[in-house]
Amino acid sequence: MKQEAFFNISYGLYIISSSDGSKKNGYIGNTVFQVTASPAQIAIGCNKDNYTASLIEKSGMYSISVLKQSVKQNIIGTFGYHSGKDIDKFENIEYIETENNTPVVTEDCLAWFECKVVKQVDVGTHILFIAEVIENDVIATDAEPLTYSYYHKIKKGLAPKNAPTYVDPELLKKEKAESTEVMQKYRCLACGYIYDPAIGDEDSGIPPGTPFKDIPDDWVCPTCGSTKDMFEPF
Ligand code: FE
Repeated sequence: MKQEAFFNISYGLYIISSSDGSKKNGYIGNTVFQVTASPAQIAIGCNKDNYTASLIEKSGMYSISVLKQSVKQNIIGTFGYHSGKDIDKFENIEYIETENNTPVVTEDCLAWFECKVVKQVDVGTHILFIAEVIENDVIATDAEPLTYSYYHKIKKGLAPKNAPTYVDPELLKKEKAESTEVMQKYRCLACGYIYDPAIGDEDSGIPPGTPFKDIPDDWVCPTCGSTKDMFEPF
């Protein structure tokens, strides 16, 4: 079986959220698809180990938030690389709660759907939750939805060009003239985020032009929170 063949299947990236009434949680998922138009039904594939899966099983409800291509890295980090068992993922994000108490992330999202589970199918490691859309809304129309392919090939965990971390070409030229060690990129072994000295990590106060070795020891990966020792030259 060729794994590479599977990489050609395209997906979007979404935040799937649910609540059991006392605890709410959400995760970043790519397996979301519309099953039928009338009635409007959607299915998601959710890993059984995922804390949100247990909340969906209890409540029979979940929401899907469609992420913008320009979604902030820390949102991907919080919802994609941490467990809701350890942190409250909704602490620092804009969200609403529906009449049914379903949490719905709205920050950096284009649209959302609230879904009521009508059937669940055990498919081994995952559960397929087939659901009817009972409510939805459009938040923004002036941006592109984030796709799985864009996240891995273009974003690579780095800030987009229109972000505050954008580096002007003159600075890049100056950086290129410096030694290779100074310009050495480092990759997070946990999540694949690449630290590029030419770009820095301005969200964490690391200006462009900072070599990896000069980053303070208490700095952590902006995507997954791993410490500096989890990085290797890339
Ligand atoms: Fe990381």
